[in-house]
Amino acid sequence: MTDTKHSKILIIGSGPAGYTAAIYTARANLKPMLITGMQPGGQMTTTTEVENYPGFADVIQGPWLMEQMRKQALHVGTDMIIDTITKVDLNSKPKKAFGSSGTIYTADAVIIATGAQAQWLGLETEEIFKGYGVSACATCDGFFYKDKNVAVIGGGNTAVEEALFLTGFAKHVTLIHRRDELRAEKILQDRVFENKKISIMWDSELTEVLGNPPNNGDNNAPVGVSAMKVKNVKTGKAAEYPIDGIFVAIGHKPATDLFKDIIDMDKTGYINTAPDSTATNIEGVFAAGDVADNKYRQAVTAAGMGCMAALEADRWLAEQNTAKKDSNAA
Ligand code: FAD
Ligand code: NAP
Repeated sequence: MTDTKHSKILIIGSGPAGYTAAIYTARANLKPMLITGMQPGGQMTTTTEVENYPGFADVIQGPWLMEQMRKQALHVGTDMIIDTITKVDLNSKPKKAFGSSGTIYTADAVIIATGAQAQWLGLETEEIFKGYGVSACATCDGFFYKDKNVAVIGGGNTAVEEALFLTGFAKHVTLIHRRDELRAEKILQDRVFENKKISIMWDSELTEVLGNPPNNGDNNAPVGVSAMKVKNVKTGKAAEYPIDGIFVAIGHKPATDLFKDIIDMDKTGYINTAPDSTATNIEGVFAAGDVADNKYRQAVTAAGMGCMAALEADRWLAEQNTAKKDSNAA
């Protein structure tokens, strides 16, 4: 028999937005169910030092911060569920979300906080070497590149932070960026320019990953990346460089495939919300954090939007109750 669980409010996602929404809705006695997804704690669990989350005079660690949020949400009464939502029916009453475990979650209101995921370049050889020398997470895989040469692709905050982090392990880090200036914050740029272990290939694009592939490769050679082909976008010239590992850090894609053709989104897949609100085009459905924010994409803004979504959902549920009482009295 199919297991069904009901709550007034369902929160999908366990990043800063989801946990904050849980803390607020739990403290409003709404007894929220929170579905963690495949990445409990969200993107912040893939980083190390966090210097810009307010409230901490000393540098803190991303995974530690998310563990604190998780515990806070639990302590105030969140029903924390390890599952991943694979399908939703948001126009039904109650709204329905189908877990990969087989459980069906029903709720009167839903807060979507599914965040974003790493983008890839889309190269055939990138796909072949994923997990065998090509990674999107320096925190997870940097350790494997002690005294080796690695490259980081991208010019935003993530790329620059990954490059700086990797200098703690690698012999040398080459930052490959498609333009002649970085997008990253100035303070981070300065740290890169000052770091003797980092060099930058400007106006350059990775075009091919070379090495011994995991399947059908040379059985006598170690599996993995050994070189990369990089093209200068201004001159059009391409060259091969020896390299041991490649970290792709070119941004993120909102995790909204689940809501395609159900909820209004912009052309890049971010959920549209009403001005100064987390309300989506569907009554009783709210979206908070990176999933609805193409502009700021910070832990503190995601947490702020989680708080907004919780307050708006609480008010919306109260309005539904009042409307029901009024119609019963009439
Ligand atoms: P996310 O953190 O992306 O979490 C999304 C959650 O949704 C995850 O728990 C996932 O498991 C869940 N989910 C997804 N799909 C489903 C599904 N189908 N069913 C159930 N659950 C699902 N910001 C800062 O302010 N300071 C920093 O120092 C900083 N460093 C960063 C370093 C890195 C490497 C990266 C990648 C980002 C960094 N950011 C930083 C940005 C910050 O991490 C994000 O802005 C923030 O995590 C967004 O929070 P969120 O709750 O919206 O979503
Ligand atoms: P981002 O800011 O969108 O930067 C992506 C970078 O990758 C850009 O430099 C972009 O180049 C490049 N790029 C994109 N597609 C590419 C492609 N196909 N080929 C080559 N290069 C490509 O993404 P992000 O760095 O992951 O940051 C995401 C958000 O998280 C940002 O808001 C950021 O501020 C935040 N964040 C904050 C911190 C922090 O505060 N310490 C740390 C990490 C992330 P162009 O510049 O040419 O577009």
